[in-house]
Amino acid sequence: MFKTLKRSAKGARVPHEKDTAGMATVKMAVPAHVVIPMQMHIGAPAEPVVKKGDQVFVGTMIGKAGGFVSANIHSSVSGKVVDVAPMRMVNGPVVTAVAIESDGQQTVDPACVPPQVTDKESLLAAIQACGLVGVGGAGFPTHVKLAANTIDTLLINAAECEPYLTTDAREMLECSDTILSGIAAVMKYCNIPHCIIGIERNKPECIDLLCSLVRDMPGVSVKPLPMRYPQGAEKTLVETCTGREVPQVGPGGKAGLPADCGCIIMNVTSVSTLGKYLKTGIPLVSKRLTVDGDAIAKPQNIEVPIGTLYRDVIEACGGIKPDVELGKVIFGGPMMGGASPSPDFPVLKQNNGLLLFSRKAATLPAPQPCIRCGRCITACPMGLEPVVTVEAFNNKDMDELKKRCVDLCVACGSCTYVCPAKRPVSQSMGLAKAWYLQQLRAKGGK
Ligand code: SF4
Ligand code: SF4
Repeated sequence: MFKTLKRSAKGARVPHEKDTAGMATVKMAVPAHVVIPMQMHIGAPAEPVVKKGDQVFVGTMIGKAGGFVSANIHSSVSGKVVDVAPMRMVNGPVVTAVAIESDGQQTVDPACVPPQVTDKESLLAAIQACGLVGVGGAGFPTHVKLAANTIDTLLINAAECEPYLTTDAREMLECSDTILSGIAAVMKYCNIPHCIIGIERNKPECIDLLCSLVRDMPGVSVKPLPMRYPQGAEKTLVETCTGREVPQVGPGGKAGLPADCGCIIMNVTSVSTLGKYLKTGIPLVSKRLTVDGDAIAKPQNIEVPIGTLYRDVIEACGGIKPDVELGKVIFGGPMMGGASPSPDFPVLKQNNGLLLFSRKAATLPAPQPCIRCGRCITACPMGLEPVVTVEAFNNKDMDELKKRCVDLCVACGSCTYVCPAKRPVSQSMGLAKAWYLQQLRAKGGK
């Protein structure tokens, strides 16, 4: 391991490109059809509880959590189930999905009533019923995260450090009431005395608003974060907001978690979703997306039912500019998001951006030989040495990969961004980590 700078000073100085930050969220007209996969979270897939021909409403449960580390899934439209069948997800795996034809009415299921919450147990039950997962991209079930009993600080991740994305900024400006009520509920029922809301300094209006709103909330403060990607990475956020360090290895011998140093992190839109659920009883059924990039006709922030196909979102945003050849569709931000092979995939709970780039903008320069400059090492917020780790992977050297802590890579993309030779360092690190973990599993090791 290699560490000379604080994590917050590492990473990359990426351009912000947040041109949609000032655009109020537009609600998309109800699409004719949605496709809702049974796996939009880390853990076991949900099990479908509807069949072809069933009538559903907004908020009707269509998938029941397949275990403790799993999440319920609800219909985002009212209408009729037209299919329950396997589908290939945008990132490769095949999962069962429920296709629903909308009736355009958006009738809310009468079963959607605000939950009765009186203690931690009932709060976690409500969160589980809501199907809440980390909507900032991670997709980790929230009730699992909040079950920990050793937490003294709730960290709200409002860094939104990825270029282009402005959905969390809009949540802060448009839904501050439910952000605060969600925070208050978590602090009260989980007995957490402190809360710090971390916001990157490139969102001064959000910092000002939340500073003024939390002034009278005991234990809650706002922490402006440096304008350097990736401030929202868990370990960076913990260090910058609390001065604590997440241990490399946790008590169970697995990778250390924020909970191992008394912290729990919730994305700002996740905690706001909780606030909305406690108020209305309507579970997680829609997402705000930033739709941007040089190929889209009308960049904007748009709220869409979960399961809406990218192609319907693109059409709702004016379509692809007529004089532009579409080169790449990216779900998520440009640093950590993935490229989609087509626009026929559905929006998931954890999606927050859809970026459309022209062929010209999406064409990458050819990689050149490594010049051993070490910039990838300086940039890595996890303190890794990507250039030597990738060499170890090329040599299939398990011992060296272990020594270089390849499993700590969070795929932030900073190493690729800073590489003057335009090498796909982060992508190689991803392959190295996957290979290393697969070898470990094959040997039955941890
Ligand atoms: S992608 Fe991995 S190796 Fe590269 S900078 Fe991020 S954490 Fe470090
Ligand atoms: S930044 Fe690129 S050129 Fe420099 S050491 Fe790392 S891989 Fe090699």
